[in-house]
Amino acid sequence: MRAWSRAERIRGHRIGFVPTMGFLHEGHLRLVDRAKERADRVVLSIFVNPLQFGPREDFAAYPRDLERDRSLAKERGVDCLFVPTPDAMYPTEPLVRVHAGPMADTLEGAARPGHFVGVLTVVAKLLHMVEPDVAVFGRKDFQQAMLVRRMVADLDFACEVEIAPTVRELDGLALSSRNVYLKGDDRRAALALSRALRAVEQAWRGGEADPRGLERRGMETLKTPGVTPEYLTLVDELLRPVARVDAKTVAVVAAKVGATRLIDNVVLGEGIGTDVSVRTTAKD
Ligand code: AMP
Repeated sequence: MRAWSRAERIRGHRIGFVPTMGFLHEGHLRLVDRAKERADRVVLSIFVNPLQFGPREDFAAYPRDLERDRSLAKERGVDCLFVPTPDAMYPTEPLVRVHAGPMADTLEGAARPGHFVGVLTVVAKLLHMVEPDVAVFGRKDFQQAMLVRRMVADLDFACEVEIAPTVRELDGLALSSRNVYLKGDDRRAALALSRALRAVEQAWRGGEADPRGLERRGMETLKTPGVTPEYLTLVDELLRPVARVDAKTVAVVAAKVGATRLIDNVVLGEGIGTDVSVRTTAKD
């Protein structure tokens, strides 16, 4: 991988990188589009990283379809598809890992102990293998994007981090590889997350300035049959609960819909309306 990147760099090409766990959807492919705008060659990696899954999580069941991913990546103009095996990534158990720090103590980090150590460790490894000029991440995973951006700054990685807007279905559901788990009524129930974020956004635009009041408003919308709320909080870019709300404040939400855990977020000043909406195929 590194030899390919270095050869491209010698030819004067800038390298863009999109790390994923595969089962590609339009959200991933928009990151590819963004990488193509920012670089001359695009690398997309597919690696379902065992390090970031808890023992009771869906590592074994995580959806995989390499042949479909391969053709989607090719169609979208990916120049290099990097699919390392678990043995290549972790020939021995990694004893040294990236300490994720206080930004990982809350929200997803609290719900999934060790998750962000696993994420940052694999992202650090991938950045060393690919040596990109720019790496593109989705705002859909807001806490992850903030942590990666901070790791790259704090540990002096030689790449830029670009964060691209969330891609949604026309009805508001944020695209996720895990949406395949949503069958029957769960698909409709899952709309509660984006609806709750929109309720917060609208209340804020309507003049409600108290963060706890806004959170209560969101929770009322989130609590619907089939949905088990985990959190709905207003945070800053360091994932700290805000005392005062402004346009940069982010409403983050997590809930279980049936057995599927979903997350979503909105930057209040930008609003869900500025995210990208796409029609997906019936197969998805
Ligand atoms: P994953 O394959 O779920 O690990 O995601 C790989 C990358 O795609 C991450 O940077 C995610 O934030 C991003 N991503 C996943 N879903 C979306 C979405 N709906 N919109 C934008 N980016 C996304």
